[in-house]
Amino acid sequence: MIKVKKRKILLLPGDGIGPEVVNEVKKIIEWFNKNRSLDFELDQDLVGGAAYDKFKTPITDEVFFKALECEAVILGAVGGPKWENLDFSKKPERALLKLRKELKLFANLRPAICFKQLVEASSLKPEIVSGLDIMIVRELTGGIYFGEPRGIKPIDNGERKGINTHTYTSKEIERVAKVAFELAKKRNNKVTSCDKSNVMEAGQLWKEEITALHKKDYKDVNLEHMLADNCAMQLLRNPKQFDVIVTDNLFGDILSDEAAMLTGSLGLLPSASLGAKDKDGNLRSMYEPVHGSAPDIAGKGIANPIATILSFSMALKYSLNLDKESTELDNAVQKVLDDGLRTKDIISEGKKEVSTSMMGDAIIACLQK
Ligand code: NAD
Repeated sequence: MIKVKKRKILLLPGDGIGPEVVNEVKKIIEWFNKNRSLDFELDQDLVGGAAYDKFKTPITDEVFFKALECEAVILGAVGGPKWENLDFSKKPERALLKLRKELKLFANLRPAICFKQLVEASSLKPEIVSGLDIMIVRELTGGIYFGEPRGIKPIDNGERKGINTHTYTSKEIERVAKVAFELAKKRNNKVTSCDKSNVMEAGQLWKEEITALHKKDYKDVNLEHMLADNCAMQLLRNPKQFDVIVTDNLFGDILSDEAAMLTGSLGLLPSASLGAKDKDGNLRSMYEPVHGSAPDIAGKGIANPIATILSFSMALKYSLNLDKESTELDNAVQKVLDDGLRTKDIISEGKKEVSTSMMGDAIIACLQK
């Protein structure tokens, strides 16, 4: 008998509302195992403040090695006031940075989709955001957040100087650009590359490398270059002009938050962080909602699980090659919103308020149909 390789998924719920929202994903994975004969092997462990409380470290070596071995990591959120005064190296957020760095997750994908049912939740006019579907690809392991030299140093006149260095190599630019071009081919075939090539040499290299890769391998994809400050304006003026935006770590951090807010609610926004393929061709990856641990609502059963559920849908598509199941799950989320079910963060007049677990159950019920 052929032995089917089990697909390992590691759940790291973390802190605050993390365990509540990841629990809904767990139910959905179990549903897929049972009803679609999928063979996901689930493991779950501690990360962030929860790991610190038990092991005095935000991530143990054991969990880190588990993350290296699985096909996808689904993370809830880490952090909270309880751990705010810990030494920098022990803070819950260090676990995230370690996972991103050691798994070499260089491409952060953040879709900004404006659900038609929630168009009113955006601060922009409905006609500007209705039907919005952008994918922002942010370079995640290079640029000014990692460049050397860095630090704060005393200088001659008694003042201090803060230093960070913005650097990119051709290879770092090329690999993230490739992700963007490949995504565009499956979407509306357009990539907008954002930089500050007018004032920064690293930005000039960014533009040149992307242009060269486009010419070499992706002539059929429409490419435009845009200065990052103009992109910030265009996102508010006419966001629907974009399909895939690719940009560096710093600009990506800011532009992806801006694009996220066009959609209205933090509780709906998923993300994927993708790395290089290992020697067996498996992609290293981590999926997590954009929101944090929301300590203000933790334990109340009111958190919106949709961002985490849609993050799992991205895992189905990008790590597990299960496009059909990913679409099925996206459609189930749409259907539940169509039916008027809302968690507290997105409630409006005439809609029915449901708890975290009721939202998960309703999505499963739609999958069942
Ligand atoms: P947050 O995203 O946790 O919360 C911001 C606001 O949005 C809160 O009012 C919260 O109740 C609400 N919210 C967030 N997610 C929601 C959901 N799923 N459903 C309903 N409402 C939701 O940001 P914050 O308050 O700035 O940070 C809280 C903690 O989370 C901090 O310790 C921060 O460091 C951490 N954090 C972690 C991550 C991560 O793990 N990736 C990301 C951001 C912040």
